Amino acid sequence: MSEPVYMPLPPELRGNPSEDEMWLKRELDRIDPARNEMGNAGDGEALRKLVLEMRGDVKHAGQVLQDACYGASFAAGWWVNPKTGADMRDNPMCFSQKLCLIHSEISEAMEGDRKSLMDDKLPHRPMREVELADAVIRIFDLAGAYGMDLGGAIAEKLAFNQSRPDHKLAARMADGGKAY
Ligand SMILES: [Mg+2]
Repeated sequence: MSEPVYMPLPPELRGNPSEDEMWLKRELDRIDPARNEMGNAGDGEALRKLVLEMRGDVKHAGQVLQDACYGASFAAGWWVNPKTGADMRDNPMCFSQKLCLIHSEISEAMEGDRKSLMDDKLPHRPMREVELADAVIRIFDLAGAYGMDLGGAIAEKLAFNQSRPDHKLAARMADGGKAY
């Protein structure tokens, strides 16, 4: 396998970048412009620009989703114990219990797919689509409740995935490579 070709730092990342920006620069520097198995025709600069633009859009979209999902559930009282008035997050098991609710939505999506069902609450949509929406709503609600930056994390993970060596076609085809 040929050595990756490193590209110059774009002007928007020059100067005194924050720790966050330095991380992104390192990840972008790892992108091999010669790889093309993900539709990249070898234009590393275009890919780099796409990642930078996408990062801003995805981070913003994540914040909108967190505000919408957490805002709605907080307003509806799901983060306060209705009997005691206690903040649900005071319970150390709160996070893991909320994760279980996310699992349940994924399982419902699987049932909808298995039986080719339409959703009972939005009957014009497939059940698997609506249950995936439920899972995403719960995920962004949870992220909002715990003050996370899920959109930023998604954007950075997408950038990382563009550069990770174990996702390159040659690595996937090698012994012990990821089959899927
Ligand atoms: Mg559901």
